[in-house]
Amino acid sequence: MDNLLEKWKSSQELINVRRERRILICKGLSLSGGLFLLVFGTLSVIEQRFIMGAILLGATSIGLVNLYILKISNKVERSVFVLNGIIFVLTFTLLYSGGVDNTGILWIYPLFAITLFINRFWFAAAMSGSFILLCGLFLLTPLSQFLQADYSQVIAIRFVLTLLALSAICLVALYSEEYAYKLVLKLHDNEIHRVAFYDSLTGLPNRWSFQQNFARILQQRHKDQFTALLYIDLDNFKFVNDNYGHEVGDKLLIHFGKRLSESVRIDTTDEDLAVDLSDDIARLAGDEFVVILKELESPQDAEIVAKRILNLFQGGYNVDGNIYPVYASLGISVCPSDTSTDIELVRYADAAMYKAKRKGNNNFQFFDNETANELSERQNIETGLKRAVEKQDFSLVYQPIFSGETKEIVAIEALLRCHSVELAGYGPDVFIPVAESIGLIKALDEWVLNNAIKDFTLIREATGFEGKLSINISGVELLDENFPQKVKAIVESYNLPCSLIDIEVTETALVPDNPIVIKVLNEFASKGFSLSLDDFGTGYTSFNQLILYPATNLKIDRSFINDLFSDDESLAKVVKTIHDLAKIYQLNVIAEGVETQQQLEYLQNIGCECIQGYFLSQPVDKMGLIELLSTTH
Ligand code: C2E
Ligand code: CA
Ligand code: CA
Repeated sequence: MDNLLEKWKSSQELINVRRERRILICKGLSLSGGLFLLVFGTLSVIEQRFIMGAILLGATSIGLVNLYILKISNKVERSVFVLNGIIFVLTFTLLYSGGVDNTGILWIYPLFAITLFINRFWFAAAMSGSFILLCGLFLLTPLSQFLQADYSQVIAIRFVLTLLALSAICLVALYSEEYAYKLVLKLHDNEIHRVAFYDSLTGLPNRWSFQQNFARILQQRHKDQFTALLYIDLDNFKFVNDNYGHEVGDKLLIHFGKRLSESVRIDTTDEDLAVDLSDDIARLAGDEFVVILKELESPQDAEIVAKRILNLFQGGYNVDGNIYPVYASLGISVCPSDTSTDIELVRYADAAMYKAKRKGNNNFQFFDNETANELSERQNIETGLKRAVEKQDFSLVYQPIFSGETKEIVAIEALLRCHSVELAGYGPDVFIPVAESIGLIKALDEWVLNNAIKDFTLIREATGFEGKLSINISGVELLDENFPQKVKAIVESYNLPCSLIDIEVTETALVPDNPIVIKVLNEFASKGFSLSLDDFGTGYTSFNQLILYPATNLKIDRSFINDLFSDDESLAKVVKTIHDLAKIYQLNVIAEGVETQQQLEYLQNIGCECIQGYFLSQPVDKMGLIELLSTTH
């Protein structure tokens, strides 16, 4: 974008320099022309040629007024127009009076040349043509008898030929200047066009040009043919960026951009599917691409291209012999079977892509009724969330965390509930990811922090509870270096020490080696907060990566607690293995989702430090919690 701005600026500069130069010449010409006319006009009056004097002095005053107006308005076009008129008057006056030895006409040459340079090429050409024609008419025909000066044929022909040569030289110079100027502007324009319409990394059309192209293609569509939109999203691309670096990630995208063009265009099995021009592929963002398939006989034809694209990812994506664990998910919407509007087709293909993603790596999915329902459900959730944020239509419930040894409540975890009608029946596991994707999560996290800490002070006052408050934060916050300080300020505004607050971060939000995430986590630790890795076991964190995070607790995901008494022995052993390893890293283990006496006893036997789950307590509201704490403490 900087490049674009540079080009735009230098184009503007070029236009300005040219304009300034034109204004300067106009001013010089107005002034010199005015002075000439003044002198000749005065001489004419002295010589008692009053009509001539009046014309010349009139032109003088027009010239000077023109100069003044140009000075204050800088409107060069009008000024050039006036000057052309004056130069005509002046030239014919000089021709008319001529002088005894005809030196008067010599002044016409420089004035004529300068005048040409203040006109744009085509106008200058037209002007010089008509000017020379007029001069020729006056000098070389019987009209010359009306001129005061007596020109010989030789002088008249020499004058016209000199004017012709002069104007040819001026016009050639003007033309080459104009040509160079237009060329530079065009180059800049092309560059601006390229940056504005094409993605700088892959060279493919960008989102903006895709929107234009797609709308146009749909408009030009043949009524009995189908147009399909393929929405492609790479799976696991983040993994490549995080683990191999952005350069490798960029290389992969460039490589894929080329392979995508090839696999869409070169169609050996079905001639009709071969797509002609470069308006059919685009990179919308990061790892999202789209392909427009025009003129399909049937919607199913899109499947052939979809499969060919997915084939590029069989067994991972290969870039120059290096295979990366990157796959693709592909969604397809079809015009007119699904809808005929471009915006909806994009939304439908996107929704189908998400469905394909859920099916697993390297899948494609057509938009269908089920996806349509999911899409409207998702829209419902978005609407509900926006409304809830506006009206602050939320509340908090608290689920106690018990000591495995004493079964006393050692902490309470705040869990968010949303009350807008659209969200009836949806829990935070559904609406939090939506809030993250539409940028509402920061508002939610802030609301939770403020209200949970406010409730916590009341709960402490009412019950004398000395345990901790656990607050879930979104992974998005881990990319905000100022976040720990914001949380600290909220906690301190309630006169509480940070050590009473536990920050729960779900394991999948952790990006190994991301320096900002590590910095934010360390910042929390240094401010005295404790840190829990939530849903442990669902992400990719290996035990030796745990050393990177200043965590205090591991919350074993409830799916493992569920599997405790599974027939599959290896699953049943996971909890004990995690617990044993956590001990080596001096981490407390919290088992969540404990629903039965049997699970509880098992966990107590292996020495699990903390237990949370419906068996001991469901999440309860503030008053319920106060009651619970009053009876158990
Ligand atoms: P989580 O942090 O793992 O929270 C525990 C979830 O498991 C809660 O669901 C809780 O009601 C449920 N749960 C607790 N014990 C049991 C049990 O014995 N059996 C079963 N089946 N479920 C149990 P909830 O409240 O629906 O929260 C779901 C997820 O939403 C949370 O998972 C957390 O990741 C997220 N979340 C909740 N509140 C917030 C919040 O305030 N901010 C953020 N950023 N995320 C939140
Ligand atoms: Ca949690
Ligand atoms: Ca959890």
